[in-house]
Amino acid sequence: MNRDKPLSVGVLAVQGAFEEHAAMLGRLGADPFLLRKRADADRKMDALVLPGGESTVQGKLLRELDMLEPLRQKISAGLPVMGTCAGMILLAKTLENDAAVYFGLMDITVRRNAYGRQLGSFTAKERFADQGETVMPFIRAPYIAAAGPGTEILAEVNGKAVAARQKNMLALSFHPEVTQETTVHRYFLNMAYSAGQDWG
Ligand code: GLN
Repeated sequence: MNRDKPLSVGVLAVQGAFEEHAAMLGRLGADPFLLRKRADADRKMDALVLPGGESTVQGKLLRELDMLEPLRQKISAGLPVMGTCAGMILLAKTLENDAAVYFGLMDITVRRNAYGRQLGSFTAKERFADQGETVMPFIRAPYIAAAGPGTEILAEVNGKAVAARQKNMLALSFHPEVTQETTVHRYFLNMAYSAGQDWG
C-alpha cells in the first residue's frame, strides 16, 4: 500500500450513521466511498467501516442486496474493518440476547441494547487503547459481554468492555463519528496503513 495515496475506505451505507463516518474519514485525508449495492462491495478498498444504526435492518438489507457474503470474504481475508455499535453487532460471532448472526467473524459475545431504556443514551469519557481519553457517546448501545483469547479489550466503561480488536477487526459500542474527536478514526486508519497490503 502506498502511504502517499489516500486510503480508500468503503463505508456501508444501507442504513444508519454512515454520512458522519464518511465526513470524518474525509477530514483525516482518507478517500471514503459509500457502499449501497453489490457492485460497491466488489470495489477495491483498503478498509471498511460498518456504521451504527439498527443491526436487524442492516443485516436484512445486506442479505437482500447480496452484500453480506462478498464483504464477509474480504474481512476474513484481512480487510481492516471498524464496526461501531450496530456494526459491532454485525461483526460478532455470538449475540447474548439474540439468535441472529451476520458476519460472525469476531470472537466476541455482544449484548444488544445492553444499557436498558433509562440508560439508553449517555456519554462517557474514558481511555481508548494507548490514545488517552476520548468522548464516547452511547446510543442504545451494545457492550462486549465476553471476548476470546485472541481479542484485545481497548476500552471499558463502568467495568464493561466497549471496544475491542482482533487482528484486522476493530469493534466499538459507541459512536466516535458524532464527536469532534478524531482519536478512534485515526487509530483505525493507522491499523489500515500498517496492514500493508492491497485487499483487491
Ligand atoms: N440498538 C441497535 C441494534 O441493536 C444499535 C444501536 C446503534 O447502532 N446506535 O442494532
